[in-house]
Amino acid sequence: MNTPQNIQELHDRYVMATYAPSLTLVRGRGTYVWDAEGRRYLDFLSGIAVTNIGHGHPHLVRAIRRQSRRLMHVSNLFYNEVQPRLAQALAERSLGGKCFFCNSGAEANEALIKLARLWGHSQGRYEIITMRNSFHGRTLATLTATGQDKVKKGFDPLPQGFAYAEFNDLASVKAALTERTAAVLVEAVQGEGGVRPARPDFMQGLADLCEQEGILLFCDEVQCGVGRTGQWFGYQHYGIKPHAIALAKGLGGGFPIGAVVTAPAVADIFQVGSHATTFGGTPIACAAALAVMEVIERDALTENARRMGAAFMEGLQQVAGRYDFIHEVRGTGLMIGLVLNQPAKELEVLLRAHGLIALATADTVIRFLPPLTVTETDIRKAVSIIDRACAVWSKRA
Ligand SMILES: *Cc1c(COP(=O)(O)O)cnc(C)c1O
Repeated sequence: MNTPQNIQELHDRYVMATYAPSLTLVRGRGTYVWDAEGRRYLDFLSGIAVTNIGHGHPHLVRAIRRQSRRLMHVSNLFYNEVQPRLAQALAERSLGGKCFFCNSGAEANEALIKLARLWGHSQGRYEIITMRNSFHGRTLATLTATGQDKVKKGFDPLPQGFAYAEFNDLASVKAALTERTAAVLVEAVQGEGGVRPARPDFMQGLADLCEQEGILLFCDEVQCGVGRTGQWFGYQHYGIKPHAIALAKGLGGGFPIGAVVTAPAVADIFQVGSHATTFGGTPIACAAALAVMEVIERDALTENARRMGAAFMEGLQQVAGRYDFIHEVRGTGLMIGLVLNQPAKELEVLLRAHGLIALATADTVIRFLPPLTVTETDIRKAVSIIDRACAVWSKRA
């Protein structure tokens, strides 16, 4: 029998305990998901910025169904009809160069790291500067790139060639520069690091610095990309142009796909045999991503992300004024953090008990990543749930 208890027992017996899942979710529609007992939750996490056009969007479902019937996979030894169209759609909305397709955020960043090394090889440049509190993935190279010790513990020896600087502190990036530096990798809004937007002067400074030094600037847009912040890509808030970006999470709307998109200057660093992945850019993954991009454009979802993000932020500010354990509300577009002055995990659990899914991050932050399709009604409901949960919590604490 598929009771939640049986599912959880099976899971705990046969699935490695790399996560500690809570609810058993069985169904989703738009901004809502349902658990195995039929309880409904407002999903303000979107599977961590993945289901960006909501659950079960008919345009996405249709695209996946159609493409799965026509052709799912052929490998990159053959052209497929969909991949170049997705590459064009991405390049035209961002850096104008070329794309490499993969399957996850870690893989996209891994590709950026390899690209930087290949680019810098003849000059003896291989080091990559990343920021403290950043998150870039869990492969050996990307966990090394990640500016948080907790993901590295027990995995040494780690790959060489990484240096770390303070986020939003240009002087510290300058101090980390050497004649071996090949690239700087930065998130426009740090997600796992606690929803911290980069300051405009920092991003502008990084772009200028990389140009002066003749090195590459990369943006990890895995979480903040594909409409999440109210622009197609997070870096576009800053009037700068990195040499390449990494994408994944929201790109396929739930179907796994990752990508690197470059500017023309570094579009031809990878050549036949430089890099590869069997599943990268399959027709079905690319059809899903194209459908997501079509919906974002057709329904003006970047604009919706800006408007709903502002409305949500305003609602949260009002809630924040009522409870002294809330320190700050920060974010960009629909990437919003409620910053507490104490650990946030209990509040995450309480929100869920009140019917709202969000995620405690960086210890003291509740991270909200609602779908870009979120409505004013959803926002009002969420704010009222958060207010009620905070009221309950303030009495407990
Ligand atoms: C989630 C995330 C990654 C890793 O993506 P995976 O698909 O989990 O490998 C990398 N960078 C950022 C900014 C992320 O948020």
